[in-house]
Amino acid sequence: MNKVVDVAVIGAGVTGALSAYLLAKQGLNVTLIERSNWPREKVCGCCLNYEALKLLKDTGLFDVCRKLPIQPLKNCHISMGRSSITLAIPKGGAVSRRLLDNAIVNAACNAGAIFLPHTTASIEKASDTTNKVCNIHLRNETMNRILHAKAVLIADGIGGSTLNNMPSYRRNVKPTSRRGFGTHLQQTWEFGSPDTIRMCCNKDGYVGLVQMKDGGANIAAALDPSAVKHYGKPGILATRILNDSGIHNVPTEVSEVAWKATVPLTGYRPRLYGQHIFIAGDAAGYVEPFTGEGMAWGIKCAITVVPLIKIAAVKWDKSLGIQWEDYHSRYLKKRHFKCKLIAWLLRHSTIMKCGIKLWNFMPCFAQHLIESYIVPGRDYNKSFVSAAPATSYKKETS
Ligand SMILES: Cc1cc2nc3c(=O)[nH]c(=O)nc-3n(C[C@H](O)[C@H](O)[C@H](O)COP(=O)(O)OP(=O)(O)OC[C@H]3O[C@@H](n4cnc5c(N)ncnc54)[C@H](O)[C@@H]3O)c2cc1C
Repeated sequence: MNKVVDVAVIGAGVTGALSAYLLAKQGLNVTLIERSNWPREKVCGCCLNYEALKLLKDTGLFDVCRKLPIQPLKNCHISMGRSSITLAIPKGGAVSRRLLDNAIVNAACNAGAIFLPHTTASIEKASDTTNKVCNIHLRNETMNRILHAKAVLIADGIGGSTLNNMPSYRRNVKPTSRRGFGTHLQQTWEFGSPDTIRMCCNKDGYVGLVQMKDGGANIAAALDPSAVKHYGKPGILATRILNDSGIHNVPTEVSEVAWKATVPLTGYRPRLYGQHIFIAGDAAGYVEPFTGEGMAWGIKCAITVVPLIKIAAVKWDKSLGIQWEDYHSRYLKKRHFKCKLIAWLLRHSTIMKCGIKLWNFMPCFAQHLIESYIVPGRDYNKSFVSAAPATSYKKETS
């Protein structure tokens, strides 16, 4: 069955799922394609910062998100060895990516999108200017077919495979880039106040911890691949980093459970568009995640690219792609630069320790820096991340 859809969205993370929701809500015929079995876990610190929550609310997903078990967050405790600082952050929340991404996909389906989980998409040949559609190869155990789309959004993340056969789009990876590692502990583990993100750093990388509303803990880390090799397992290195930061009650499960890993984190695509194609979210470019704003970037990308895709679904014009690249570089390059600077600082523990000491002497300055990195949000409406009943988590996962 070869059919033409208005838009094919590849990847059902926050960027893709939200774009599919916004496009379907506006009456477009959308197919959302996802490689993983669904719902899926994702290596992520799970912190929706103030901006991400506000943007989700603006897109009309307020009710969808409010039903999720979101753990409110208002502080970030950063430690480098024995030096540490606690900073107030604009109100955000921690939520399982399995639940969040699934909720947005459900909203997209309710708005009329067709969802194809466990299906790998690939684009093997650029469409030429005479082509009215883009051909996407879809494969799973029972299907092997071509989908024709008037416009395509590639939001397949840092490890996406959609454009693997098109060298001119290949992701340029920074050779010294760390890799992401993550796991979720079901058991209760007290490592600090539930409204505080713990960021523990040493020369080999950093580990972020948040309590989840269900009592478990989410652990996400960016680690040097050579150090992981040296220690044998990401969990052993993560335990070491947590111990260095004064957390000594790390459950043995942290070293023993299976951790999910990512490809190298920092990398860019040389091009963000092609005939009928837009590339957005982590797939377009990503920097190590210390500031935890990747989801806000993905949401912002979705909101901005959707109007361009809508036009492209009527008639492709190269100027749409140029507009997208231009926006992307204006909006994200500055933020990526800040993140690169932080990634550099984190590799120099002496500078970090001095910085933390200085910050402790000048907490107002440190607070100002944090607020300018994670956007101001003191007036943020508390009710959005108010306690959801614990049963809603069980209901979603059963
Ligand atoms: C260690 C770590 C910690 C982080 N912590 C935070 C945090 O606390 N807060 C925050 O906001 N951000 C954080 N991030 C960043 C955040 O996870 C990402 O920025 C965000 O998930 C990007 O969403 P996305 O939709 O662009 O991509 P993804 O969420 O990666 O989604 C891409 C999807 O595409 C699918 N896919 C790939 N290839 C194909 C294919 N060929 N066909 C079909 N489907 C395909 C994948 O299976 C995946 O589901 C963290 C990242 C890491 C690595």
